[in-house]
Amino acid sequence: MKELEERIQADGRVLGADILKVDSFLNHQIDPALMQRMGQEFADLFADQTITKVVTVEASGIAPAVMAGLALNVPVVFARKSKSRILSDEAFAADVYSYTKQTTNQIRIDKRFLAATDQVLLIDDFLANGQALLGMKDIVDQAGATIVGAGIVIEKSFQPGRDNANQAGLTRIESLAKIAAFEDGQVVFDQA
Ligand code: 5GP
Repeated sequence: MKELEERIQADGRVLGADILKVDSFLNHQIDPALMQRMGQEFADLFADQTITKVVTVEASGIAPAVMAGLALNVPVVFARKSKSRILSDEAFAADVYSYTKQTTNQIRIDKRFLAATDQVLLIDDFLANGQALLGMKDIVDQAGATIVGAGIVIEKSFQPGRDNANQAGLTRIESLAKIAAFEDGQVVFDQA
């Protein structure tokens, strides 16, 4: 998505070897008009699918997921993160390791909000190592629901997230911006 790439070039900051900071429009301050256009883009990319629910993880997935849900006219469920290890009968849960924060969080979705009949679109802000996507997939699998695919705002193609997700059976991943590399603090996008 050209507009997103331009925004990343204008406002993104590369931190260290592999982190992109986009807190002026996505991860802290949010640009609602851009989010809405991204939500519509996700809806267009998955127009060939029947989708009954959008699933994401708090916090940064929520803004693009809500806009995708608005464009698709379906409910949005966000998995809650908690450090608690207490398993509840009322929730589906999965462990997600964050390489950026180097912590493991349990993510949960109340069983009332996912049914075996659901056709789910997963949404997240970044795809890096794929742990968040795999955690969401685990939860949707527990519900017996179907995943139609995953929509990612920013994919770092030089990290193994897509491969890890593909190996787990998550084969349809649409990313609005794909970053091939960070070179001298600059973002280089995939040409494809
Ligand atoms: P994964 O589970 O694919 O390893 O990482 C996905 C999660 O890590 C995203 O939901 C995001 O919160 C965080 N993340 C990974 N890489 C980056 C990055 O370069 N910048 C930011 N802001 N967050 C990232």
